[in-house]
Amino acid sequence: MEYEPIIGLETHVQLKTKSKMWCGCPNQYGADPNTQVCPVCLGMPGVLPVANEEALRLTALTGYLLNCDLPRHARFDRKNYFYPDVAKNYQITQLALPSTINGHVDFELNGKTERVQLTRAHLEEDVGKSFHYDRQSGVDFNRGGVPLLEIITEPCITTADMAHAYLNALKDILTYAGISDCDMEKGMVRCDVNISVRPKGTAELGAKVEIKNMNSFSGVRRALQYEIPRQIEAIQNNETIAQETRRWDDVAGITESMRNKENAHDYRYFPDPDLMAFEPSEAWLEEVKKGVVELPLARKRRFMEQYKLPDGDADVFVNDVSLGDYFEQIAVKVEQPKALANWVINNLQAKLTESETSLQELKFDAAALLELIKLVDSGKISTKIAQTVFVEMFDTGKSPAAIVEEKGLVQVSDSGAIETLCQQAIEANPGPADDFRKGKEAALNFLKGQVMKLSRGKANPALVGEVLKRILNG
Ligand code: ZN
Ligand code: MN
Repeated sequence: MEYEPIIGLETHVQLKTKSKMWCGCPNQYGADPNTQVCPVCLGMPGVLPVANEEALRLTALTGYLLNCDLPRHARFDRKNYFYPDVAKNYQITQLALPSTINGHVDFELNGKTERVQLTRAHLEEDVGKSFHYDRQSGVDFNRGGVPLLEIITEPCITTADMAHAYLNALKDILTYAGISDCDMEKGMVRCDVNISVRPKGTAELGAKVEIKNMNSFSGVRRALQYEIPRQIEAIQNNETIAQETRRWDDVAGITESMRNKENAHDYRYFPDPDLMAFEPSEAWLEEVKKGVVELPLARKRRFMEQYKLPDGDADVFVNDVSLGDYFEQIAVKVEQPKALANWVINNLQAKLTESETSLQELKFDAAALLELIKLVDSGKISTKIAQTVFVEMFDTGKSPAAIVEEKGLVQVSDSGAIETLCQQAIEANPGPADDFRKGKEAALNFLKGQVMKLSRGKANPALVGEVLKRILNG
């Protein structure tokens, strides 16, 4: 019998706000423990939380970007439980009436477009962080109260690779729009994985295993690559899959049982009496909509279509937005955007990387690069010379025309001068000259190279070829 895995993901993402969700404490990673706290986020009795409007805006914006519906009435609830890192003994979240519902994320996987359906994205608060030492434990509450968006998919993911690609696409969208920095190392994105296996073609879901608190996407993929065959094998051996929470051991590369979860916890949710319902006005939502940016996949497709770029080039401009924007400034003004893309990727990006310079620090503007390309197109300088000019532009910021002028780099297209050089090359290399006369076409390239060398790269290569042939063919 064939089995299929059914995977759902719950992704927690920290929102990029200046302050926390219900108080004015900074939302900033890396401060000394318990230095970014106040009575509100420490949950002292009698304090009153006030919702952070920027967090509400980023939540609605996420809704638009992920094709969600935005209910005009949302609510905050208390999820009650005791845990050392939750000072209040409850977490404020959205249960029955979340801010965003439904939606989907499209992305590419193995050359095909895939879609993951979303159930909801609700706004809540992060909790503190426990640290365990040899003989004692400590809690840092700096993270407590940081705005957190929990994005939940439908159980519609069917492979480990699909889960991985979805997470990357989600991260790209959120970083693109400035919703989160999504820095995994700083714990800004954490993922819970739900996975069950069932006979292919059946409708009922199998027992669900949850792998909690994954902080790397490759970890999610590896955990699924381990867990899917584990469950299938167990079923084939007539074992029952326990509904449980498992932990991923990244070093050992296995999942281990953590705790049984036969009964759902009762968190005694109730509407937070200190917070008003969230009822966005149409005008406010219209403002939020202005933050909607072109998504990575749409940008990629547009670059491929509008500028006729290959997949790989488009990817470069999607991954490096400012480089892509730079390309676009002049792409509309050139006849062959692909040639421009080569310049931007092979020369500009390479040089920026090599010299550890950012695009903002560049000494010349896009118009200067356009000028350089036009010098090549018009035959004034060769492609090879253009590389030299480019390096000079990069180092000094001088205009390409000035560099060409100053260094005497204008391409030699004067057939008299080229003829002299060709004669010299033939005389110095009688062997290859003879080979060509006997019909060995490849010998011409060698001679051409010699002429280019003699001209220090300035001869017009096409003309050199013509003149050489004319002389050699008598
Ligand atoms: Zn606070
Ligand atoms: Mn949550």
